[in-house]
Amino acid sequence: MDLDAVRHNVTMLAERAGDAELMVVVKADGYGHGAVQIAKAALEAGASWLGVCSLAEGLRLRAAGIRAPMLSWLDVPETDFAPAVAAGIDISVSSLRELRAVRAASDDLGGVGAHVHLKIDTGLSRNGCPSADWPDLVRAAAAAEAGPHFHVRAVWSHLACADEPGHPSIDQQAERFAAAYSVATEAGLRPMRHLANSAATLTRADLRFDLVRAGIAVYGLNPVPQHEDLIPAMTFASTVVLTKRVAAGESVSYGHTWTAPRDTTLALVPVGYADGVPRGLSGHLRVLLGGRSRPVVGRVCMDQLVVDCGDDPIAAGDRVVLFGTGKEGEQTATEWADQLGTIDYEIVTGMCRPRVARRYL
Ligand code: PLP
Repeated sequence: MDLDAVRHNVTMLAERAGDAELMVVVKADGYGHGAVQIAKAALEAGASWLGVCSLAEGLRLRAAGIRAPMLSWLDVPETDFAPAVAAGIDISVSSLRELRAVRAASDDLGGVGAHVHLKIDTGLSRNGCPSADWPDLVRAAAAAEAGPHFHVRAVWSHLACADEPGHPSIDQQAERFAAAYSVATEAGLRPMRHLANSAATLTRADLRFDLVRAGIAVYGLNPVPQHEDLIPAMTFASTVVLTKRVAAGESVSYGHTWTAPRDTTLALVPVGYADGVPRGLSGHLRVLLGGRSRPVVGRVCMDQLVVDCGDDPIAAGDRVVLFGTGKEGEQTATEWADQLGTIDYEIVTGMCRPRVARRYL
């Protein structure tokens, strides 16, 4: 993991955010990169907020000594919010039930104030308060704010199609967001506003408001088809454990889907689909080994894969790069995703597994 790349990307995003503060989204263990390390690097480089999905994720960051402002946005109904309130983690509220639960937690703590971000569903139809219920939620929040232990820090929402600049839903969501914000100010609230993810931060200056929430771009992956100066932070690498010569006509791996067309050297690499190399990429993968891009042959197995090295002098101990920045000719997480018909988010978060050791540079 290249933390200089993260710092570079965060610096660029903070500049693009202009007057808005930058929240770095480190849910799913920092999109598979390691939440604690990413959070620290991002805060050094100019981010001022952290975003997590669950309170458990937020509390792990607090346990690691990270004191920065933090928002947690999705917790199951039985969640006890008291530890989050006590830890100074802001909580997203989409319903009266959540509002009451947060109030109860701050009352139980007797004097520790809760900070909430009221979430309006402006068209993603996922989390967030439906428009019809918004006035009631705002009224209840304004009443709660009249007490000493409850503060509405922000009104916020999330975009459905920000990675397709010009998509009509973006303006429609922005209009609904403005209307929801007016309801809050008319009720006497003076909260911050935040709406933009990475793509909107890069493409829609008018939607940056007080705070932007950037995830994927922090990790150096470009959410929009344009040339941003982003550097991918994750390189997935392993080491050759064994080489062998095989004769023309010998077949490789389960199902014998590949047969050597000539005598060749095969290199065995100890990573497979249990380590995040999708089996569906069998027949399409190339790795960087011995200074060259080489094909992975036969099926990717649970723990291992095989590389065709021809007559080159590859040896046990040689480094193998599966994906990285692409600068040396290796594949990128985005190429893997394209090949699989998915998004690079899924590739990098798929690296969030105990078997894959992380190293930070
Ligand atoms: N905000 C919310 C609520 C999210 O769920 C996410 C990620 O999915 C983000 C911001 C960051 O999005 P991106 O990684 O596209 O920047």
